[in-house]
Amino acid sequence: MATVTFDHVTKKYGEVVAVDDLNLEVNDGEFMVLVGPSGCGKTTSLRMIAGLEEITGGTVRIGDRVVNDVAPKDRDIAMVFQSYALYPHMTVRDNLAFGLKLRKVSKPEIERRVKEAADTIQLSNLLDRKPKELSGGQRQRVALGRAIVREPAVFLMDEPLSNLDAKLRVQTRAEIARLHQRLRTTMVYVTHDQVEAMTMGTRIAVMSDGLLQQVGSPQELYDHPVNKFVAGFIGSPAMNFATVTASGTGDAAVLTGSGLSIPLPLRLRAAADSVHGKTLIAGFRPEHLDIGDAGSNVAGFQAKADVVEYLGNDELLHLSLEGLDLVAVVSSAHLVRPGDVLSLRLPLDKLHLFDSETGEVIRGDAPVAATA
Ligand code: ATP
Repeated sequence: MATVTFDHVTKKYGEVVAVDDLNLEVNDGEFMVLVGPSGCGKTTSLRMIAGLEEITGGTVRIGDRVVNDVAPKDRDIAMVFQSYALYPHMTVRDNLAFGLKLRKVSKPEIERRVKEAADTIQLSNLLDRKPKELSGGQRQRVALGRAIVREPAVFLMDEPLSNLDAKLRVQTRAEIARLHQRLRTTMVYVTHDQVEAMTMGTRIAVMSDGLLQQVGSPQELYDHPVNKFVAGFIGSPAMNFATVTASGTGDAAVLTGSGLSIPLPLRLRAAADSVHGKTLIAGFRPEHLDIGDAGSNVAGFQAKADVVEYLGNDELLHLSLEGLDLVAVVSSAHLVRPGDVLSLRLPLDKLHLFDSETGEVIRGDAPVAATA
């Protein structure tokens, strides 16, 4: 096992900066997910660990070793791609064994590793089949198996579930998580899907436009996003945002705009002076809205339900107030109908506030950037 370290790593393709001054440490045995929208630089980062892309600046280390100039085959890594890239004319057993044969691993050792990998990911009864006789999920398991037999220090996975249908994706997601719990090998996993990131990662690194935005556990990212980008990217359905202006002081400090009037939460009072008169972005998650009245430390407002999506236990409400579109997830026991005007409540401890220009989160203990 090993750590993976990006130390001021930059990757340029001509004028395009694909990865910009990336600093990130993946701990030994950790499941690190790199997540972000298309083009954010996550695949390029992974490929630099693998040695498939040259590094323009900075260093990449695996363990204590700088690997910038080490050939991919000498990096002690194994990679799983979106396309399974199996050899069609070989059986599963031979697909698993092939890389080891090339490396001149002894026959008994190959047999041991193939058997162990096949047991680990339940391929034992498929060893004599060829890839065309397997389902998509089984093929991806073979691709995983081929990585496992290498017994690498680090697994690298690039969107390995993208070719699977929704049900298989959920199943294979759990299998990979189980595999990591069993092997405890360092994994770096790339996806654009925040649900995959949240469910699989020990920690998640969120990227946008080549820049690392935030690194943390799924819960840290969900509870304490450092900026509007992370707040909107992590969580499903996405966080609601509303433009508001801060006014008043002390108990009268209030955020108004977009049809909302929200008392400034106590924890943000220390920032009240610096946000006074400023345009800010209020953020709150759909699941933190509920039907009911305002109260102590709970803001309230009215909104009209335009569309109601029944989800079984919950219902997803598309709401409007004064031109602002919001989403709420509430218990389906409320039986909301389209056109209903609802009283909604928002606990103030669930309110996030962002600088409208920089997108940075506003904390009670930190002054706001002087942008206004
Ligand atoms: P996706 O999920 O779409 O694969 P990504 O986050 O993995 O996106 P990268 O593939 O790392 O993004 O690409 C980052 C940026 O670098 C993009 O702007 C992309 O267009 C650019 N890029 C990637 N490979 C090359 C290349 N070989 N030549 C020029 N530009 C490239």
